[in-house]
Amino acid sequence: MIISMENFAKKYCIITYGCQMNLHESEKLAGILQTLGYFNTDDETDADIVVFNTCCIRENAEKKAEGNIGALKKLKRDKKDMIIAVGGCMTQQKGYAEKLMKKFPFIDIVFGTHNLENFAELILERTESKKHIVKVDDKEGKIVEGTPKARSSFPNGWVNITYGCDNFCTYCIVPYVRGRERSRDPEEIIKECENLISLGYKEITLLGQNVNSYGRDLGNIDFATLLRRVSALKGDFRLCFMTNHPKDLTEDLVKAIAESDKTARTVHLPVQAGSDRILKLMNRHYTREEYLEKIALLRKYMPDVSITTDIMVGFPTETEEDFNDTMSLVKEVRFGGAFTFVYSPRSGTPAAKMAGQVPEDVSKERIIKLIDLQNGINREQSRAYIGKTISVLCEGYDDRKKKYLGRDTYGRMAYFAGKGLIGKFVNVNIKKAGGISLMGELLSVEEEKDF
Ligand code: SF4
Repeated sequence: MIISMENFAKKYCIITYGCQMNLHESEKLAGILQTLGYFNTDDETDADIVVFNTCCIRENAEKKAEGNIGALKKLKRDKKDMIIAVGGCMTQQKGYAEKLMKKFPFIDIVFGTHNLENFAELILERTESKKHIVKVDDKEGKIVEGTPKARSSFPNGWVNITYGCDNFCTYCIVPYVRGRERSRDPEEIIKECENLISLGYKEITLLGQNVNSYGRDLGNIDFATLLRRVSALKGDFRLCFMTNHPKDLTEDLVKAIAESDKTARTVHLPVQAGSDRILKLMNRHYTREEYLEKIALLRKYMPDVSITTDIMVGFPTETEEDFNDTMSLVKEVRFGGAFTFVYSPRSGTPAAKMAGQVPEDVSKERIIKLIDLQNGINREQSRAYIGKTISVLCEGYDDRKKKYLGRDTYGRMAYFAGKGLIGKFVNVNIKKAGGISLMGELLSVEEEKDF
């Protein structure tokens, strides 16, 4: 019988909501917990500490998190020593931590987005004092380097380059819960990327709420320069970045993307709406025409680039005409993919107080039309892949489909059979196309490139 240390050790379970940013922050929380001697489990009933890393960008993510926290009430009654901790954007909202403790008094620790780096101390404080801990600083501090990370996304490595946001789009809660934009020291970013490459990571994604404004607070570097420096690092890897803001996408940056063999040929450029009137109300700082100029700029230097986007419907006062402007923009640009959302009022944002909230049934009808339109574009683009052989980075294995999966440089997902392929670039011949994904046959594993 093999007796593993894990059978005796304390275990943690992290439940994450929201975006890549949050997934990467959960890797930091996991790193901190592993440093304290905890092992990972996906089963919260088996865990000694359960951490909810929450998101408040949309109402349903918030409701889901609260539902899941509430569901642990009985477990906590039976397992009194189990620690329940709640962090992330939700807790950073004004007055929310107190509300949460009132609603779920069995929570042990509430910590804000600016307190993630102190998580180890909070656990030790809770263990020693047995008191409930609420630590939510309302102001962002200096960037803390050196937080341990237990990465769970091999062969994709996430690297923060900025924190916070200065844009104040009127619907968005991020600037209020993540603070002002701060750029990380470029040397720290380079060091982290070099380390990932040396560990065999094959895709590096530079992360920030608006990576295009990287360096503005440092004064001596911009995002195009950083991108050139990372893509010049020696190693066989693909370089991605997200997310971008159309107002800050410069020609020099587009050139930096285009001139690199390592930078993915996909750019995520959130448009949000196709109507100038709505874009103004959203405080997006660009018009429809200016957005289309950015699309033309990207296509001038990279005619085959795949542009993906975020689109919101039902923003306050959105009329049928505004919505039709969004539809016509989608038809014109032909995005390689779109995250589509119904506007959800976030308390504390200017849009939540605007008159003219759009009725739910109208928003629902609009989103269905929009999804339908984008699905049709996705299908046509996917069909064009049939018969082609593409280079795919194998990222994982889908247990349900019993196939490996990975994406090409345009971000298109492909499934294929094989063995031991995770972390390898492979050539796949496409046989069938679904909506946004492809089915293919593995032809070969690529040789490591000597870049
Ligand atoms: S750019 Fe706008 S939508 Fe994006 S995080 Fe900043 S405020 Fe929110």
